[in-house]
Amino acid sequence: MRTVGRDFDVLIVGAGVIGTSMASLLVARRLVAPERIAVIAERLSPASTVPQSEWDLRVLALSRASQRVLGWCGTWAALPPGKMCAYERMCVWDSRGEPGGAGSLIFDSAEFGESNLGFIVESRALQAQSLRMAGSAGVVFIEAAVDAVQVDDGGVRMRLSDGRDLGGRLLIGADGAQSRTRELLGIETAGHAYSQDALVAHVRTAKPHAATAWQRFLPTGPLAFLPLPDGRSSIVWSTARGEAARLRSLDAAAFGEELTRASGGALGECELTTPVVSFPLKLQYAIDYVRLRAVLLGDAAHVVHPLAGQGLNMGLLDCASLADVLAVTGNGGFLGEQKLLRRYERWRRSENLLTAAVTDGLERVFASGNPALSRLRVLGLGAVGRASFIKREFAQRAMGLGGDVPTFLKTAAPST
Ligand SMILES: Cc1cc2nc3c(=O)[nH]c(=O)nc-3n(C[C@H](O)[C@H](O)[C@H](O)COP(=O)(O)OP(=O)(O)OC[C@H]3O[C@@H](n4cnc5c(N)ncnc54)[C@H](O)[C@@H]3O)c2cc1C
Repeated sequence: MRTVGRDFDVLIVGAGVIGTSMASLLVARRLVAPERIAVIAERLSPASTVPQSEWDLRVLALSRASQRVLGWCGTWAALPPGKMCAYERMCVWDSRGEPGGAGSLIFDSAEFGESNLGFIVESRALQAQSLRMAGSAGVVFIEAAVDAVQVDDGGVRMRLSDGRDLGGRLLIGADGAQSRTRELLGIETAGHAYSQDALVAHVRTAKPHAATAWQRFLPTGPLAFLPLPDGRSSIVWSTARGEAARLRSLDAAAFGEELTRASGGALGECELTTPVVSFPLKLQYAIDYVRLRAVLLGDAAHVVHPLAGQGLNMGLLDCASLADVLAVTGNGGFLGEQKLLRRYERWRRSENLLTAAVTDGLERVFASGNPALSRLRVLGLGAVGRASFIKREFAQRAMGLGGDVPTFLKTAAPST
């Protein structure tokens, strides 16, 4: 393949939060000069029909670690305050129990000496600011699809849909769950579909959300209420596909009644304030994260059930870990060196597989109608609640600070 276009050091495919954050982080940590990084994506601006004054339907629960990664990228400080809401508590309970009672687990940030456990952020605002920060850092954006990739010891060659050719030393695939980069690199995936859809909408509840992320585990799937700054909550209601279709076909009043029932009335009566959208759910993981001069990050490498709100958080830790591994080379002189890429792969694959296994296990355990397992769930949640060291470990994991975390995330990032 000829290279008649431009040459770069790093070619990042995908301009989602992960691709753009990776670009910003490489610049912020002085690993690569901004003009030597190209971010290639078919579409650069996030598509949404919801007016900017409203909260878009997609929201993300972001961990402390993600806040720090985004702090390094400059994105955190740029997020509009009206598009984020700190959550101070998390309450998880089994459908057979009550929130606060036996079979429930409450994490309170005050217990861990923190002001909050994380933030609910509008996905559209995060996407827009991530893109803007990478752009203002001087990263080059190229709007095109990737048609072909060729990698050898000499470097990476990429053919774009508009006929341009690009060259580079390291290829980063951050193009989401259907990653074309992963396909072009010949990396296989494994996993399974959940035969569940997640219904997403914003609702008003009779009782205040109390800056708490609520999650009730029903036999049909988990139902989460995430607090929004205007007092409403954003729901993520994972349920069997047929049931999801039935719920979506209901009018607002009937949907509200079903939701009130499904939540066990924890937040009082629920009133639907937006349309309901749905997302099919699956577990998918790439068998390899690395090829010669190429790596995968974010959903291109792993897709998990949203019950623990971990997908993007895992991807941001991928970015931070890759930056940490590449930092060993100082000025980026060995970008694409296989030994370093393999170190990234070992590190992140084991951490991500653990999270994927825990989320998958939770989904199965809570979905089981087996009475013995059901009793065990109630006892298990109660036991975790009483054992402060286990609880602390859970909370650290939920905040993204448990496990093997890049050293530069252990303390607060600049501008967070
Ligand atoms: C219902 C639901 C709730 C969730 N809640 C949470 C949560 O609370 N917290 C959390 O951390 N995670 C959550 N997630 C997961 C989170 O949304 C994803 O993990 C995250 O969006 C993945 O980001 P990404 O940048 O890897 O991929 P994407 O956001 O999919 O971005 C990929 C980018 O690549 C581009 N692209 C795709 N194909 C090509 C191509 N061929 N050429 C060029 N560009 C291409 C796309 O246009 C896009 O810009 C949730 C997911 C769901 C479904």
